[in-house]
Amino acid sequence: MIKIILATSNPHKLDEINAINTNPDIVFDVVNGDFAPIENGKNFIENATIKAKEAAKIMKTYCLADDSGLCVDALEGRPGIHSARYAETQKEKIEKLLAEMKDVPYDWRAAHFVCSMVLVDKDGNVIHSETGKVHGYIDDSPKGTNGFGYDPIFFIPSKNKTMAELPEEVKNDISHRANALKPMLKWIEANLVLHE
Ligand code: IMP
Repeated sequence: MIKIILATSNPHKLDEINAINTNPDIVFDVVNGDFAPIENGKNFIENATIKAKEAAKIMKTYCLADDSGLCVDALEGRPGIHSARYAETQKEKIEKLLAEMKDVPYDWRAAHFVCSMVLVDKDGNVIHSETGKVHGYIDDSPKGTNGFGYDPIFFIPSKNKTMAELPEEVKNDISHRANALKPMLKWIEANLVLHE
């Protein structure tokens, strides 16, 4: 069994990661103590690396960080790495994004969620990273109550639903987080679990 500390204070991320991980030999827990990394990287991988290294300083064991966000084509990739800080509350973030997209027609509303994951060892050395994406469109109004963040305005054409209208298990099958975590878990199984 291998225990990996998740470098996050977002309980939704822990829930989603626990739901995606089906291997009982890999157990996730969260950082305890004062965890306040300064996310001043230039991209998702840099920010995930900052968070993972900061967690390893505190926990002195394997740490996995996820940095994620929503990139909107018509806004040249914004809010991107600034998704968490785009506005004060999640409701305000959605309202601000819908206001920015007000006059943009459906065909030009393409967007994608990105999730970069970085795994470090107990000394903070990066040992593996993965990036996952999921493509969709920005809806013109929020729909659904599942998930978190921008899920209510992220429309997925193949499902004809927003991310927040999808059952949890469907989101956890197709999401950017699943698309980064699944190969990350395979790597952990092959390189850490089998060598314990
Ligand atoms: P992070 O904690 O710095 O990675 O911030 C990610 C931000 O991007 C979150 O606060 C959300 O606003 C948004 N985000 C990331 N993943 C998701 C998701 O799965 N659904 C909806 N919004 C997300």
